Amino acid sequence: RVPGGHALTVDRQAFAREITRVILNEPLIDIRREEVRSLPDEGIVIVATGPLTSDALAAEIARRTGSGRLYFYDSISPIVDAETIDRSIVFAASRYGKSLDGGDDYLNCPFTREEYEAFVDAILSAESASPHLEEDRRIHEGKVPFFESCLPIEELARRGRDTLRFGPMKPVGLLDPRTGRRPWAAVQLRQEDQRAGSFNLVGFQNYMKFAEQKRVFRMIPGLARAEFLRYGQIHRNTYINAPELLTSTLQLRSDPRVFFAGQISGVEGYVESIATGLLAGRHAAALARGRTPAAAPRQTAVGSLANYISAASAKHYQPANIAFDLLPPLDDSLRQKWKHDRQARQAEVCRRALAALEDYLAASA
Ligand SMILES: Cc1cc2nc3c(=O)[nH]c(=O)nc-3n(C[C@H](O)[C@H](O)[C@H](O)COP(=O)(O)OP(=O)(O)OC[C@H]3O[C@@H](n4cnc5c(N)ncnc54)[C@H](O)[C@@H]3O)c2cc1C
Repeated sequence: RVPGGHALTVDRQAFAREITRVILNEPLIDIRREEVRSLPDEGIVIVATGPLTSDALAAEIARRTGSGRLYFYDSISPIVDAETIDRSIVFAASRYGKSLDGGDDYLNCPFTREEYEAFVDAILSAESASPHLEEDRRIHEGKVPFFESCLPIEELARRGRDTLRFGPMKPVGLLDPRTGRRPWAAVQLRQEDQRAGSFNLVGFQNYMKFAEQKRVFRMIPGLARAEFLRYGQIHRNTYINAPELLTSTLQLRSDPRVFFAGQISGVEGYVESIATGLLAGRHAAALARGRTPAAAPRQTAVGSLANYISAASAKHYQPANIAFDLLPPLDDSLRQKWKHDRQARQAEVCRRALAALEDYLAASA
């Protein structure tokens, strides 16, 4: 483990070395170091080829699942913890009062002209993340053509001082109830599907360093004390549209002997990839023994992650990290009891998860 504040940060090289050593010493594992170009036609299969799945296999998976192209330049917007939004500043409204379901679809963060100018300056001077891959470097250097609707906000800000205000920050159709006037610009926050406790900053994909995103996005009126559950990113990724294709036991709905795990299954990050790998392995073992794989309980982080990737909206699916807001909320009485004590609420969610995990493991032993 290496220092990283509250985060679980490990020495990548040492961690990889140790995992490789364990696998090499496992007599039941037969290692073949070669490219798999197609999915085997029989037997139980776990596909875990990650964000850079080779082209031949990606094409084969796309064909078998009817998915079309499988790799994308992911434009991921930041997600903010709902409880850390200042509701005395932001207001709920849809443009021109029009909503899909009669409610107010968005929270709006209203900017004055001065706040907007300072915000644009901060975006223009923020430090970019260093790209991990050569292909990502080309993205950062603006050499990869983006769909106009997926442009990073830095790129929009570079195009002109008002470009953001006529793009993702346009204020038309919005009235700030505090002033009774249209704000100079507005950031819209949309509730995340299946994630009641969090909001997405609509259209705010970017490639600033995470620390810079925290600093710059806290300049947004109403987000001065915001906690971010996910930061914006743009990178090459390969993943299936899990909600359309997978069950909560990570099996292909159309061919249940095929499991997906890791980043290609629609999750993001080390812990999430390892956790879905472990789940897929357990489910595959159950299937090999003639049992029906049982989904991990929703109360656990792995269960909620598997549930999310199989049940989220398929239309605009974006890979998921695990966060507290993916887990089911506590009962009203407990929420009330610890209304002002987030740590106690989260400790209770963890206690509940561990108890559910124990029952689950005992039942599937
Ligand atoms: C530089 C870098 C830093 C990162 N830092 C973090 C971080 O700090 N925290 C975090 O949570 N996440 C981080 N990530 C993301 C993290 O690496 C991924 O989420 C995770 O590794 C995905 O795991 P995976 O097992 O699904 O895929 P991978 O780790 O990519 O493993 C898949 C393997 O399959 C192989 N493969 C691909 N196609 C084929 C084929 N056709 N046949 C055979 N083998 C194939 C690949 O070569 C690879 O070895 C980082 C990523 C990068 C690139």
